[in-house]
Amino acid sequence: MKAIVFHQHGAPEVLKYADAPEPPVRSNEVLVRVKACALNHLDLWVRRGIPGVPIPLPHIPGSDVSGEIAQIGADVTTVRVGQKVVLAPLVSCGKCPACVAGLDNHCRQATNLGYMIDGGCAEFVRAPQVNCLPYPENLSFEEAASIPLVFQTAWHMLVARAELQPGEDVLVLGAGSGVGSAAIQIAKFFGARVIAIAGSDEKLKKAKALGADHLINHKTQKIRDEVRRITSKRGVDVVFEHVGTATWDESLASLAAGGRLVTCGATTGYDAKVDLRFLFSRQLSLLGSYMGTKSELHTVMKLVAAGRLKPVVDRIFPLAEVAAAHAYLESSSQFGKVVLQV
Ligand SMILES: [Zn+2]
Repeated sequence: MKAIVFHQHGAPEVLKYADAPEPPVRSNEVLVRVKACALNHLDLWVRRGIPGVPIPLPHIPGSDVSGEIAQIGADVTTVRVGQKVVLAPLVSCGKCPACVAGLDNHCRQATNLGYMIDGGCAEFVRAPQVNCLPYPENLSFEEAASIPLVFQTAWHMLVARAELQPGEDVLVLGAGSGVGSAAIQIAKFFGARVIAIAGSDEKLKKAKALGADHLINHKTQKIRDEVRRITSKRGVDVVFEHVGTATWDESLASLAAGGRLVTCGATTGYDAKVDLRFLFSRQLSLLGSYMGTKSELHTVMKLVAAGRLKPVVDRIFPLAEVAAAHAYLESSSQFGKVVLQV
């Protein structure tokens, strides 16, 4: 099969469009003919190399897959060959206490397609049958591939971790990113008031179209001052973080007393400072979040099929142009998802 393979970590140029062996399918797995694979920041980290994470080389990246079932293992009963499918990105052991409790994102063996195992930037990818999600027929393959990782992550952050309540104020950092555009929609779905932050008026216009109530351009405005103005000096109940070092101080300063900051990433760096006096006296909560559960993703897919949540596709590249797609994602000029068409 054709696949995107890299033999060493580095710049986008290490990504090669090459021949690779078709993955063999185990009894509880399916082989998916990939139609689209959406990119995430995770793809950039995996390509550059992450200290302490020995990603097996050569490696095929790509976590967000839509396609058709090409082959099923002997024990697969829930899907059939030819069926359209979206894959849940998180592959867990399925047997440990966390997995049997439905908390597969707490599984110690869990990894993502395209992270410690080969992923979907290829003509074929294999995955456990339990990772097959119902295909929302209202969506193209590119739209369908744009859902799993970011919507699952944003849902787990806002609903499971921050326990967002109707009427609360939510500050969404990086509104132009995949996870930010998902967060705006989920927060609005739960009846929150959304303040969206992005680095260009063009992106903010699109955030408004997704439902954001207030907009902050972090290039021309100071986040904490704008939040104080919008909330009449109160601050927000929830800060949706994934930017890291560049915005951390502003994010903390934007919280109301009793506010929760939830974070799933650190695209600009992972060093952050916390004034503990501020943390305890204002009774703040700092919440880490990683991926989400398959059960949450099933809920998301139901809402997507019903048209209540919508994937936001920014730009589609052919699979062979993956290096250009990575460079584009790295430039942060997108609004929504960058998708590879296979
Ligand atoms: Zn497990």
